[in-house]
Amino acid sequence: MASFGEQQVLAALKSVIDPERGRDLVSLGMVSGIAIRDGNVMFSIETEPSRAAALEPVRKAAEKAVEAIPGVLSVTALLTGARAPAAPPAAPHNHDHHGHAHAAPAQRAAPKALVPGARAIVAVASGKGGVGKSTTTTNLAVALAQQGLKVGLLDADVYGPSQPRMLGITGRPRSPDGKILEPMSNHGILCMSIGFLVPEDTATIWRGPMVMGALQQMLRDVAWGELDILLVDMPPGTGDAQLTMAQQVPLAGAIIVSTPQDIALLDARKGLNMFAKVEVPVLGIIENMSYFCCPNCGHRTEIFSHGGARLEAEKLGAEFLGEIPLDIRIRETSDAGTPIVIEDPGSPLSQVYMQIAARVWEKISGTTPRQAPRITID
Ligand code: ADP
Repeated sequence: MASFGEQQVLAALKSVIDPERGRDLVSLGMVSGIAIRDGNVMFSIETEPSRAAALEPVRKAAEKAVEAIPGVLSVTALLTGARAPAAPPAAPHNHDHHGHAHAAPAQRAAPKALVPGARAIVAVASGKGGVGKSTTTTNLAVALAQQGLKVGLLDADVYGPSQPRMLGITGRPRSPDGKILEPMSNHGILCMSIGFLVPEDTATIWRGPMVMGALQQMLRDVAWGELDILLVDMPPGTGDAQLTMAQQVPLAGAIIVSTPQDIALLDARKGLNMFAKVEVPVLGIIENMSYFCCPNCGHRTEIFSHGGARLEAEKLGAEFLGEIPLDIRIRETSDAGTPIVIEDPGSPLSQVYMQIAARVWEKISGTTPRQAPRITID
């Protein structure tokens, strides 16, 4: 337990003045989304996007002020663009309980050179955990590699890194010079994961700002070399940590994985909203565990109201990339570290991943004849 709380953080921030407006950040109502975990503090300073650059010294001062509180281990203050009050009225269900906010374009411009050798970085995200995001990422990565592309996979799911297991990689990455890590590799995929550095069950210690630090290191301090595409297996959910990641990584696009249920519960919509906030184009939605294929007789059962993703995607102006059935072979092969696309490339299951991969690459490489979908939601 931290020995300090939100009140102390607010008190510290009351000493930080916005010079242009002559008052402190708290009185001006600019502070939001204070998150404290194990001595690590994260919060947002909301401002109009146009002031983001000018407020950088204020952001630094705010971090310093909070760092001075006894017991604070690290502080991350984010400048987030507040929505202009006169903008189109926000839908009431869109209310944001985490108090996080809307990225200023100025912020996205900064960290461009994190993986200079990668042609495109694409996030794979989900509204919540357990929908098969990691499994889908692994199989997509392998499917992209089988199309002759040079593929990297960054396991940014620092809370539950599963790529080492799914790609069947054990051991620790080498670092010949003691600074830059060499990525691990298997099945033709270069991979980096916190799971290589700490045991799977201790990864839960990564919180807030530490997560960001770890992620940046895995992007910047890894010898990725030249890549056609770097897939990022995002941590599940659409909270502050995910938003920050989506903001700090120069993403060319994002893919949302969801199940029929969470499409029904609108979790997938949260994913779309998150990327819209940081101006990352959503390449499309994949429906996972879409229907059940009986392993004995091949009979297809629509357990959940199947087809919802296609409709929902259309409604949201995102492309529907495909549907992957609930099939025990997908689970068995990924648990065994040999994804289905490697294990049985000719199977209809693998073909689904191959088709989705082909479409994703088509959109990323710009060879698509169709125009990229425009995100019209807010
Ligand atoms: P997430 O990354 O969203 O938390 P995982 O990829 O870890 O989810 O998948 C959760 C579990 O569901 C794993 O055991 C995985 O093997 C299994 N799984 C994922 N997709 C499928 C599928 N289409 N059919 C069968 N099992 C699946």
